[in-house]
Amino acid sequence: VERMPAIEIEHLNKRYGATEAVRDVSFAVEPAEIFGILGPNGAGKTTTVECVAALRTPDSGSIRVLGRDPRDRALRALVGVQLQESGLQDKLTVQEALELYAACYREPADWRALAAGLGLTDRLGTRYAKLSGGQKQRLSIALALIGDPRLVILDELSTGLDPRGRRDVWALVAGLRERGVTVLLVTHLTEEAARLCDRVAVFDRGEIVALDTPAALAAGHGDLDSAVISL
Ligand code: ATP
Repeated sequence: VERMPAIEIEHLNKRYGATEAVRDVSFAVEPAEIFGILGPNGAGKTTTVECVAALRTPDSGSIRVLGRDPRDRALRALVGVQLQESGLQDKLTVQEALELYAACYREPADWRALAAGLGLTDRLGTRYAKLSGGQKQRLSIALALIGDPRLVILDELSTGLDPRGRRDVWALVAGLRERGVTVLLVTHLTEEAARLCDRVAVFDRGEIVALDTPAALAAGHGDLDSAVISL
């Protein structure tokens, strides 16, 4: 039995010039937990997950991902990251992108099944440049999952998705939960956090102002929305 946290962050600090984006943030995500990060624009959510994903270097503090340094190459096969900017060539079709990414892993997930689960089957032949924003978003989620990762980092999973797309990605996260995959997800939607997450950290101005289960956070406030606004 793995007792070590999937992610352990201690006293993380990150600034951009005069902006203190993240200030003394500490939290741990347990294996198989769905952990949400909520908070207003500019609260430091993306900066925090980018440090976990080794896309940024912290100024101070420590981060362990599956017991390793975030830059450890062994994590590439174990961690899936949904990127806001895909860096994909505009001329690649959806199928070519999926096949290209799948080829990077020894035991990739079934890309056809992933595409189907994300409503992309009828877009397989479409070039990246011609996808809608929501379709690009669906593809970025598929690419995060294609290595069949143990840990998935999702930044604004359902932003820009229509109700059907939102339902699809929520079902996908529920499927990850069933398979014991750990998920760290940034969201603006309290409904999404309440539905999907075991625990939620609420960020404000670079700091964690609350951390608990959605039910405990909502207690005494009616719902999670009112609770978050009152913090
Ligand atoms: P949002 O909900 O708007 O995505 P967020 O909670 O993810 O916000 P971050 O993107 O982490 O917040 O930004 C935290 C702070 O750091 C903000 O004040 C932002 O202006 C600043 N910031 C973020 N990225 C940079 C950058 N590359 N250069 C300078 N400042 C930055």
